Amino acid sequence: MALKAGVVAVQGDVSEHQRAIQRAGTANGHDVEAVEIRQSGVVPDCDLLLIPGGESTAISRLLHREGIAAEINDHVAAGRPVLATCAGLIVLSRDSGDERVETLDLLDVTVERNAFGRQRDSFEGPLEVRGLSEPFPAVFIRAPVIDTVGDSVEMLAEFDGRPVAVREDNILGTAFHPELREDPRIHDLAFFQDGQGR
Ligand code: GLN
Repeated sequence: MALKAGVVAVQGDVSEHQRAIQRAGTANGHDVEAVEIRQSGVVPDCDLLLIPGGESTAISRLLHREGIAAEINDHVAAGRPVLATCAGLIVLSRDSGDERVETLDLLDVTVERNAFGRQRDSFEGPLEVRGLSEPFPAVFIRAPVIDTVGDSVEMLAEFDGRPVAVREDNILGTAFHPELREDPRIHDLAFFQDGQGR
């Protein structure tokens, strides 16, 4: 049966995420219909949810203003899976250290925005990720780092000794951009490798 994947489409790599989730679905025997989320009423019909990078200030503002934040809450409470990348991770965190970002507090981590500093604004490197047999080509763009993690949060990857990919129940969050490489393994991990995908 076809799965419906919703991609929050305020800004960021929306079509790249749509392609990656479709590829991961195909590899797992599922047709995936990927839709864009700009207003309320879409999330309740989605099996899978993706929150891309961009500016976490703008994304969080829109999610609250449009009533999408409450729907994401319900999606997570219903046990449906979410992949949140970069700004998406910031938006779902417990605390972003920045009062301009009203986080959804769904992922028990605190983050620091733009934490890699000027020289390392954007960079790419092979990253060991728990659950993947080969390193992932991780692209970091003005990425956050995860400062603290709650007891129920599993660390999936570290860079320079700091967590950059985590999972808590049905939410997988990355500080990097898995959609920017033609490599759907992180999408596969988020949606199909732990019994979450249907
Ligand atoms: N720097 C952005 C923020 O703090 C995140 C960057 C990204 O998503 N590529 O919101």
